[in-house]
This record gives sequence, structure tokens and C-alpha cells, in this order.
Amino acid sequence: MSFNDHEQVVFCNDKDTGLRAIIGIHNTVLGPALGGTRMWNYNSEWEALNDVLRLSRGMTYKSAITGLNLGGGKAVLIGDAKTQKTPELMRRFGEFVHSLSGKYITAEDVGMDTEDMDIVREVTPYVTGISESKGGAGNPSPITAYGVFMGMKAAAEYKYGSDDLDGRKVLVQGIGHVGESLVEHLSNEGAKVYIADINPARLEEVARKYSAQIYTEDVYEADVDIYAPCALGATINDDTIYRIKASIIAGAANNQLADDKVHGQILQEKGIVYAPDFLINAGGIINVYAELEGYDRTEIMRRTENIYNTTLEILKTAEARKISTHFAALQIAQQRIDNRKRENSN
Ligand code: NAD
Repeated sequence: MSFNDHEQVVFCNDKDTGLRAIIGIHNTVLGPALGGTRMWNYNSEWEALNDVLRLSRGMTYKSAITGLNLGGGKAVLIGDAKTQKTPELMRRFGEFVHSLSGKYITAEDVGMDTEDMDIVREVTPYVTGISESKGGAGNPSPITAYGVFMGMKAAAEYKYGSDDLDGRKVLVQGIGHVGESLVEHLSNEGAKVYIADINPARLEEVARKYSAQIYTEDVYEADVDIYAPCALGATINDDTIYRIKASIIAGAANNQLADDKVHGQILQEKGIVYAPDFLINAGGIINVYAELEGYDRTEIMRRTENIYNTTLEILKTAEARKISTHFAALQIAQQRIDNRKRENSN
């Protein structure tokens, strides 16, 4: 299990609505634990627990490195979002979130959309990512995609000496909310875009819209410059890592490295530039943070664009310190948390 100094883990059960959820609160030193809710058909409660532990920890570092006054949390709902998600279930989940009195603030993640957050909002104010018509910042996915695009360009600048992606071969794995928007940025820039997904209908649709090429072979062995994981986590693992041909990995998925110590190190040794996931996929949280802080769209875009500078800085720091890029980002994030803890105790 991925317990790693988590502050609190809450199991939520409700027979009437069929709700089975786990809320993971990793750290609240910088502020309330904010992180999305994922609905997924986990094989077991253990699998769901492991996921929420990993995801909530990732949120702590994501907010810390992005300079937000937020802690790290996440929630998982066990079940099929297509068939088991009902307004009653979402409302009941919202009540559990409310019972934590703001220590955890929820948002959208895989299997959720803005309308679900609107339902949660009916029973608790501790939710972000609600519709613009209801005073929210709306769907965070396009902003997340823009941040990933910025991180990818910074990685290209570092690796190739130019951040121009025109003519670069990029494979996007997972063309959901974020993946599709990333494909759009890439094709506007003139990149040669390949797409992979388990949903054939999505593949057809996105391929048609952006003249992308559907890729059906083994994603990891693809002869591309950049691999962009935008589906689920842990795709860089013992089985895949030695097959990856791309020279840059930059994508939206959370927890791309199955084991961040081991696989971060191997990527560094192989000379593959890895843009840390929790750093470059922070656009979404920058967007929902605006709901709490009240800053506008211009400020959201400015902060998201800054992912480019932070990524470049981290890649250079990792090189200078001879550590993996993931670890370099973690160190900087942890430093910010430690500093705040010291300030708070003084
Ligand atoms: P989504 O559910 O809209 O899209 C995921 C896509 O991945 C779907 O099209 C699905 O069919 C596909 N997929 C699932 N398993 C796959 C596999 N094995 N191979 C290929 N494709 C597969 O989710 P999203 O909102 O686009 O998020 C994508 C990733 O980015 C997730 O890991 C999420 O946690 C992360 N993320 C999202 C946001 C956001 O703002 N939405 C922010 C930060 C991180």
C-alpha cells in the first residue's frame, strides 16, 4: 500500500445509493487538501485505496510546486461511471465531503464532469470545477492540456534546443477531455500527431477532427519523438520502460511512473527527458484555484503559461544535481512545505 505520511483516510459507504468511496487527505500544511474525484471500476477496495493514496500525495506536490496555498487530497468512487453514477450517489458523496468541514475540497477527475460537481455543490460549498453559469471556473481540462503543452515545449527546448514542435512526432495515449485538447494544440503547431485509445469511436472522431493518425501498435515501441501519457497512471513501469523509444515524455496522466524512485532514475540514465507529471498537469488546479481566490481568466492563463519556465528550471536543476527530474521537482515542492511548516510553528 502507498501510505506515505497521509494525514487522514476516510471510507464512505451508503447502501441506499450504492456509494462506496474513499477520500484521501495527504497533507494540509499549505492549505485545504484539494483534489478531484475519480470514478473507476476498481477490481477491489484495496486497488481503490492504493489509487487514492498515490493520487492524494501527488496533489500535495502538484500544488506545492505550482505555488498554490493548497494541500493534497483526492477521492475515488468505486463503480462504473457510465452505469452507476446517479445524482443521488453524487449528492450523498457531497455530504461526506461536507462532513470534513473544508479540510478536503473536491473537483472533477476521470469519470466526472462539471454537472456532477454542480450536484455536489447542492449539498456542500467544498467543491470546485462547477459550471461557469453557477459561478465556477468551468471545465479545467482545456487549461490542463495547455499546461501540458507548455511543459512539453519546455522539454523540447531543453532536449532539442528549440521549443518548436512543427514536424515533431508526438503520440498521445488517451484522447479524453485533456488528450483531445492537447491534440488540438499539437496539430495547430504543425506536429505529426499519433493517437491511441481503448475507445475506437473516440479515435475515429479525434482523428477526423485534427487529421491525427490512429496508432494501433504497441504505444511504448512507437518510433516517435514525444510520448504523451494522457490516460491512466503507471504506464512507465518495469514492463514498458526499456521499450520506450521517445526522447521526451510529457503528458497529463497522474502518477505516470509506477515507482517514482526506480523509474525516474532509469529514464534519466536512458537520456529520456521526463517532464514531471504533477508539474506540467497543474493547469486544472490553477483553474479551480481561481474559484477559491477569485482571480480571472488572464491570471489563470499567465500562471498556466508559467509551467514552461518552471519545467525548464526543473530540468536544468536535475541535470546540475545529477538527480531524476521527478526527484528534482519533488525536492523543490517539499522545500516549500517544510518552509511553511517552520513558519507556522514559529
Ligand atoms: P478522460 O476520462 O476524459 O480521458 C481518459 C481517456 O483515456 C479516455 O478516452 C479513455 O478511453 C482513455 N483510456 C483509458 N485507458 C486507456 C488505455 N489503457 N490506453 C489508451 N487509452 C486509454 O480523462 P481526462 O480528464 O482527459 O484525464 C486524463 C488523465 O489526466 C488522467 O490521468 C487524469 O487524472 C489526468 N489529469 C486530468 C486533469 C483534468 O483537468 N481533467 C488534470 C490533471 C490530471
